[in-house]
Parts: sequence; structure tokens; C-alpha cells
Amino acid sequence: MRIDVLTLFPEAFAGPLDVSIIKRARDAGLLDLHYHQVRDFATDRHRSVDDYPFGGGQGMVMRVDVLDRALAEARAEAEEPGLVVLLSPQGERLTDGLVRELAREPRLILVCGRYEGVDERFIEHRVDREVSIGDYVLTGGELPAMVLIDAVTRHVPGALGDEASPEEESFADGLLEHPQYTRPAEYNGWGVPEILLSGHHANIEKWKKAQRLERTRARRPDLLEPPPGG
Ligand code: SAM
Repeated sequence: MRIDVLTLFPEAFAGPLDVSIIKRARDAGLLDLHYHQVRDFATDRHRSVDDYPFGGGQGMVMRVDVLDRALAEARAEAEEPGLVVLLSPQGERLTDGLVRELAREPRLILVCGRYEGVDERFIEHRVDREVSIGDYVLTGGELPAMVLIDAVTRHVPGALGDEASPEEESFADGLLEHPQYTRPAEYNGWGVPEILLSGHHANIEKWKKAQRLERTRARRPDLLEPPPGG
């Protein structure tokens, strides 16, 4: 999968996407990440990427012309046109379902807003989907883009390696995951549930399922409700 990121801060991505599973996926060619500096597409001598909002109001707005040039250039780097995703607190909420949908795309082009956001004409004419990582406002779209890239990469076939599967994680079957334990079996007088040490696989599976249900009921009862209208 190819992901292009349009951003004023490409350097912000170094670190989180250069370690562990994401690094392995990149090294294996499963994830092909490209960053594009939006400022490179400004044309005035101050390299302006933003301007005052028409009609007044606080802050600055990212310019449609600069963003459009950046998008055109990024797009032209590969044959696949790509799905253009703007990170925005006004977008649809990033859920496990949406992550899976996005992971099926051969190419994503992520647009990171800054300041007060992006000129609405760019959104109207160039953006396919707006995605939010939660009901709060961050200073820019870079952290949300990293969250999206991390979550999506886990669903790229082969990215988790042979031993792990996203199907055994929270949300995959609509439930939260059961609690996990590892050695030592006793620490500080704190034991682990006997059933996990019993070696009785069928009973262990039953216990895990019951735990998943109990956890979900206690922490996220909304996940057990039928979808609206369904
Ligand atoms: N003025 C905008 C509003 O009230 O809806 C908020 C702009 S925010 C300060 C700047 C940029 O950060 C946004 O354009 C978006 O790219 C990003 N951003 C902030 N919060 C976000 C969130 N919860 N999810 C996704 N992107 C977010």
C-alpha cells in the first residue's frame, strides 16, 4: 500500500513511523510512505501557505491553490490516483470499521491541516473523505495522520508477521479483548486466573469469550447495542 502525506511538518513523522511493526512493514515494501512539504508549492517570495479568512474571524486558513498544487504533484508520482483523506475534527470518526475500509485502498493521500483549517473549496473539490480521531481539537493533522497510518498498516496483509492477526484484537468481533497475563505466574502475591494455567484449551476459550463479553458490557456497553436502524 502506498500512503502520501501532505504536510507543513514532514519532520514530525520521524520516530513513530520508523520503529517496530511499521518500520518492518516499510522495510518489507508492504507500506510505501511518502511525505510532501506543502510549503514547496507556495509561489510568493514569503512561501505563504495560509491567509486571512474572508469575512473575518480568528486565525489563518490554508490556501486552496497551494494545497491543490501539492496534491497534483503528489498524485502524479504514481499511476493509482489515490483516495484523498483530510484529517479534520469535523470528519467521520476513525473506527475499526473505517480503518479496515481504508486498508483496502491501494493508495491513500492524507492531507494534514494546520491553523484554523483548510479552504472549503479544496475540501469540496478534492477531498474524498474527512476523518477525525476524536471529539477534540489538535493543533494539526500530523498526529491524526500518524494514528491513521499505524492503524491501517496493521491490516495490510503480512504487516503483523505470521504469529499475530488483527482478528484477535479488540473490536474485531465487536468486543473488547479479554485480559492477558504472562510469567511470572505469581508476583507480589498477585496470581493469575487458575483456568489459564490448566492447559484445558476448550475451557480457556470459554473463559476468554466470557471475559470479552463482561469487559465490553462494563466498559463499552455501546458496542453491544444494535446499530441505529438495524
Ligand atoms: N478550526 C477547525 C475547527 O474548529 O473545526 C480546527 C482546526 S485545527 C486547530 C487544525 C488542523 O488540525 C485541522 O485542519 C485538522 O487537520 C487537524 N485536527 C485537529 N483536530 C483533529 C481531530 N480531532 N481529528 C483529525 N484532525 C484534527
